[in-house]
Amino acid sequence: MYDDRRGRGYDRGPQEMHDVTCADCGKETQVPFKPDGTRPVYCRECYQKHRPQRY
Ligand SMILES: [Zn+2]
Repeated sequence: MYDDRRGRGYDRGPQEMHDVTCADCGKETQVPFKPDGTRPVYCRECYQKHRPQRY
């Protein structure tokens, strides 16, 4: 019997990337999640600028 949960969720295999256009600078980038269309998607650099500061 194998635990069917093993390896799921923590798998470091290739992630599915989605092509998006950054909502800030307009640069094409890729994100590891599927954009839901309701939130702006930013490239890595702009994400740093836009993420909430919690300090
Ligand atoms: Zn950007």
